[in-house]
Amino acid sequence: MPVVKIGGSIQKDERDFSLIVEKIRSYAKGKTIVVTSALKGVTNQLISATENRDKAVDIVSDIYDKHVKLLSKVAEGPAFEQAFREISKLADELFKIAWSIRVLDEMTPRVRDYILSFGERMATIVLNASLNSSRVESTAYPEPPLVTDDNFGDAKVIEKLSALEVKKILDLNANVVVVPGFIGKTENNRYTTLGRGGSDYTATVLGKLTGIEEVRLITEVPGIMTGDPKKFPNAVTIKRLSLEEAIELSQMGAKRLHPRTFEPLLNSNVQVIIEGLYDEGYTVVQGECSNDKGIKGIAVVDELKLVTVESTDIVGKVGSAAKVMKEAKDSGVNIVSISQPASETTIQLVVNSNNAELLSKRLTELPEVERVELEDVDAVNVVGCGLKFKEVYKEVLKEASNYNVISVSRGLNNVSVTFIVKKDESLNLAKDLHEVVLKWTR
Ligand code: ASP
Ligand code: MG
Repeated sequence: MPVVKIGGSIQKDERDFSLIVEKIRSYAKGKTIVVTSALKGVTNQLISATENRDKAVDIVSDIYDKHVKLLSKVAEGPAFEQAFREISKLADELFKIAWSIRVLDEMTPRVRDYILSFGERMATIVLNASLNSSRVESTAYPEPPLVTDDNFGDAKVIEKLSALEVKKILDLNANVVVVPGFIGKTENNRYTTLGRGGSDYTATVLGKLTGIEEVRLITEVPGIMTGDPKKFPNAVTIKRLSLEEAIELSQMGAKRLHPRTFEPLLNSNVQVIIEGLYDEGYTVVQGECSNDKGIKGIAVVDELKLVTVESTDIVGKVGSAAKVMKEAKDSGVNIVSISQPASETTIQLVVNSNNAELLSKRLTELPEVERVELEDVDAVNVVGCGLKFKEVYKEVLKEASNYNVISVSRGLNNVSVTFIVKKDESLNLAKDLHEVVLKWTR
């Protein structure tokens, strides 16, 4: 009796849907909750409608066509007819909103979430019709399964209130219930969203609230891999990850998951299985590190700049670092890593490339700053419970010592280490470290 989440990237054509239906059929032995994302590309289209409001009506018309076309391929008979009526009804509502924002030419976070909610709501109807047409007994529940606060765009789930919604879903008279991921509603029934990629999070929260301890995230890749196969051709699927490792890896690897996906696993028996739709392979995420000496994966974060701020004027002065950080904040720059030698003569920030020039200009203008330098760098991140053990960590450091490492920092509970290196060195370092990963994962 699992919660099964169907990703958006694997919902684009007939073939996808026949694979999805067979997956769900094989898991749906008892009551099963299926969480769905919007069809491939739809959330991006809806976002673009909120931004290019003069085109909103055309975009909605495109979205409607996409759903009807797919529906006509994956469903038939009465299941098709009913779904067609429901999709058309939702599309009508969405057309009205599209016209309004076109005329008003205005957008608020609340209206944006209302608009985004249509992607997942329409998807539940298509998926449900496709299941019914293939004789899987199911029903669609196209409304938010979770209650949240009113922080539109990044709403927080209120578990107590959501539990009541969840009970309604469990009481529905159907074996399989298809619910929308990513969206929630406030106590006074306004649509909210949980942030991009939020349907993974919906699935794990539902796992926790229903007591269904197995959550399967079905996606285009067969689990989380030791590294991005485009960079490391010998990358393999990781069989098992602890919670800390999964949190570290899912923030930067080839498979990005919503940052709160694993939160419901803390202090509960929920386990998450990330599995492929097209290729066999899966990763199980559960529990803590224990005595595991494995190193599990490598992720390279690129498009970064190292900002070095030099001045003898900042030595030993309280508040110098705060000044530098404040400039970063005011330039809209996201800081990825921070370091400073004990002599306090330099402060180094690693930031996302966009706006780095602006930051450097502003820092140069500070009276106490003598020099600011910008350099292209990458962050090579190694993740694994094994890094807590001296002999394993030593081996990683030994590989890194062949390179010009600018800084080293450790992550949550020491299960990760990040090396900042010059851009032209990062791939070689990552490849060397990936060999260490393969050695210690087996
Ligand atoms: N459809 C939403 C997005 O594209 C949520 C999700 O896919 O999980 O961000
Ligand atoms: Mg998605």
